[in-house]
Amino acid sequence: MEKQPIDLLISNGAIITMNAAGDVFENAAVAIQGNSILEIGPTTQLETKYHPAQVLDAADHIVMPGMVDTHFHTGQQFERAILQRLSKEMKLREPVWQNYLITFEANLSDDDIYLSALFAYANLLKVGTTTFADAGGPRPECMAPALEKTGVRGILARSTLDLQQGIPLEMQDTPAGVAEKGRSLFKEWNGKAGGRIRVWMGMRQIMICSRELLETIRDLAAELKTNIHIHLAEGTYEVDFAIEKSGLRPAEYLASLGFLAPNVHAAHSVLLSEKELDLYQRYDVSVAHCPAAAFRYCGPTKVPEMLKRGLRVGIGSDGPLASGGSLDLFRQIHLSLYVLSTAYGLPYRNPAPILEEDLLRMATLGGARALSWGDEIGSLEPGKKADLILLTRNDLDVLPSYDPLFTAASNASGAQVRTVVVDGKIVLKDGVLTNVDEEELKAKVKEAAPKIVRRFLERVQ
Ligand SMILES: [Zn+2]
Repeated sequence: MEKQPIDLLISNGAIITMNAAGDVFENAAVAIQGNSILEIGPTTQLETKYHPAQVLDAADHIVMPGMVDTHFHTGQQFERAILQRLSKEMKLREPVWQNYLITFEANLSDDDIYLSALFAYANLLKVGTTTFADAGGPRPECMAPALEKTGVRGILARSTLDLQQGIPLEMQDTPAGVAEKGRSLFKEWNGKAGGRIRVWMGMRQIMICSRELLETIRDLAAELKTNIHIHLAEGTYEVDFAIEKSGLRPAEYLASLGFLAPNVHAAHSVLLSEKELDLYQRYDVSVAHCPAAAFRYCGPTKVPEMLKRGLRVGIGSDGPLASGGSLDLFRQIHLSLYVLSTAYGLPYRNPAPILEEDLLRMATLGGARALSWGDEIGSLEPGKKADLILLTRNDLDVLPSYDPLFTAASNASGAQVRTVVVDGKIVLKDGVLTNVDEEELKAKVKEAAPKIVRRFLERVQ
């Protein structure tokens, strides 16, 4: 029988599929045609059946779906560790996101944003993240070309706000301006880069968005049939604001405006009451659980309760500023396992309120579902897009690797990511980026960083 020609065969790997049955196969192969997975099966069987144009030998590797970062800030890539340094020189003004984060973003030129995006997306791929959702940044039209170039998959949105309160003027807009820019960004970039780019609406924080703006964003997202990325229940100041303004808690306030719906993706979602969790469940609001940001600045997110209620929950890094520096989602799931066990397990003599495997699923398929993209990505199954990563099992830090699921969920980190495929294309091979010259990128980053920081410090000191 003549062999069927295909584009790529990944052979001899331990495959974590994240399919509904939770299948894990040893000595297995993935056949890829174009940007999609054609078949998964024993290596010998697929080698007999297919004639691949290219082969990746995954012996001694785990093959698993790429990580999905459900809450990211492209515009903060150069902000890594700045505030930690600044806080040693001066007392930071609260709230930090308003006084520093938005000011930092406001200060970036178009070229800075493009470089920030190139830097961020190359960084994501190197630690095994194949899809990200930007929370809404400055001029996403400057980020899109970097997304296209690096080969990553992602969701872009514009940062939107219209209430003053000490916010830099460059970042402010009007409801009419937000509608016009949102529509044109959507028209220009949604579905581009072979479908790797999606465009959403963004809503920064309820404190800096007027009721009229919230209604505009809600209506525009409905008109364009797209989603809205918001920050919600992230800080005590926000709960105080909502109660003072409306007598309602943040999610109740948004529900009262008809804002909550299955197309709303709420990052953080930490300080939620039972009634607000009911609202999330009723309206099928999805959640980006951002472990480092929550555990350092806010509190333990009610993840076990959310899963029990069937909410769509993914993991978010919240960018390099709030993540503790690294964009590596493996680190975030480890952090989450220990803090959630401490908060919801140990005090109740319940040793396992959540398992590492649940968190790995959350960081892949869970994230894809939270981003309304679960029909195409998040698991390795025939018909789905070929977005996958190869982790080495041949490192001293993971040997002996008896159980691929344990290695991937509990032991490995982005440091074990060797090869990354997005949309059927190899974007990282044996640790080397294929679309970006990493040395050249690092030189540009080192050259630009002091200039960006100097301009930022002139404004905030
Ligand atoms: Zn954020």
